[in-house]
Amino acid sequence: MNLRFRPYTLELRHRFTISTSSRTSTPIILTEVEQDGIIGYGEASMPPYLGENEETAIQFLSQVKLPHVSSKNDIPQLLQTIDAISVGNTAVKASVDIALHDWIGKIEKKPLYALWGLDPTQNPPTSFTIGIDKLDIVIEKTKQAAEFKFLKIKLGGSNDKPIIEAIRSVSNQPLFVDANQGWKSKEEALHMIEWLAPQNVILVEQPMLKSQRDDMEWLKQRSCLPLIADESVQRLGDIETVKSLFHGINIKLMKCTGLNEARAMITEARKYNLKILLGCMTETSCAISSAAQIASLADWCDLDGALLIKNDPFKGAFLHNGRITPTELPGIGLITI
Ligand code: MG
Repeated sequence: MNLRFRPYTLELRHRFTISTSSRTSTPIILTEVEQDGIIGYGEASMPPYLGENEETAIQFLSQVKLPHVSSKNDIPQLLQTIDAISVGNTAVKASVDIALHDWIGKIEKKPLYALWGLDPTQNPPTSFTIGIDKLDIVIEKTKQAAEFKFLKIKLGGSNDKPIIEAIRSVSNQPLFVDANQGWKSKEEALHMIEWLAPQNVILVEQPMLKSQRDDMEWLKQRSCLPLIADESVQRLGDIETVKSLFHGINIKLMKCTGLNEARAMITEARKYNLKILLGCMTETSCAISSAAQIASLADWCDLDGALLIKNDPFKGAFLHNGRITPTELPGIGLITI
C-alpha cells in the first residue's frame, strides 16, 4: 500500500481566540493511501499549541511503511504498529487511521457507519463555536449562528460575564461553555458554574488546568453542571485518570490517533457512565466526515471545524437540521474538489 502526504494551510473565516491562544490559520497535512486503484483520504490538523507541525508530521510519516492490506481485519494491528513508532504525533497518526478507514470502506463499498452498524440520523446536533472577541463581534456572530441548536462559547478570559450577557441579549440557544483551563481557582470555577447554570448552559468543558486534580475533585462534588474533560484527556489510557474528576470526556480524532481509538474510548468511557462529547479542531471535511461516522455514539457533538474555514479541499458531511450528517458514499464519504 502506498502512502502520500502534503502540507496544506487552512484559512479561518475569522480570527479564532481562546483563553490561551489566537490565530487566523491552521497547518494541516493531507494524507492519502492507495492500493488496488483505490485511494483513502486522511488529515492531520495541527493547531500550534498541541506541539505538532509540518516538520514533525513529515518526519513521522517518512517512517511509516504500509504493507499490502488484504482485509479490514488487518487494520487494528497495522495501527498498533504505526502507534508504536513514537509516543506523541497523535494528529498525524490520525491522518493515517482516517485514510486507512476511508480505503477500507471503499473496498467494502459501504460508509463506515454502515460497516459498524451505526445510524447517523441519531447524530446529536452540532454546536457552533464562538471564540473570545469584542462584544459587538460576539453579538454579530451569535446572530449569524441562529440555525444551530447549540452554541459553544469560549470563556476563561477576563470578560466572561459580559460575553454571556451579550449572547443572551440576542439568543436563547442552549450553550456549551469551554473555559480552556482559564479559571484560576476552584472557587472562581464554582462561582462561574453557579452563575451560568440558570442561563441555559448545558455543560462546562475544562474549567481549570489539567494539573489541578485535587481542585477538580472538589469541584465535581459541587458542580450543578456536567464537567467535561478536554485538555485533561487525550487517549484511551487517560480515561482512568479523569473518571473521578469529570462527568464526561471530549473525544477528538486528532488527540486520540483516530477512529479506531475513538471507538475504543467511547466503549471504555461508557463503563464508567461518562458522558461523551465528540469534538474537533479546525479541520477540513475530511476529518469532520470521519467523526460524523461515529457521532451517533456521542451525547453531544461539536463538529463545526469545517464550517470555520474558507478553503476546504473536500466536500463531505454536511449540516442538515443542525446535525453534521455524513454522505451515503463509501468510506468516510468524501468528494474531492
Ligand atoms: Mg475544549
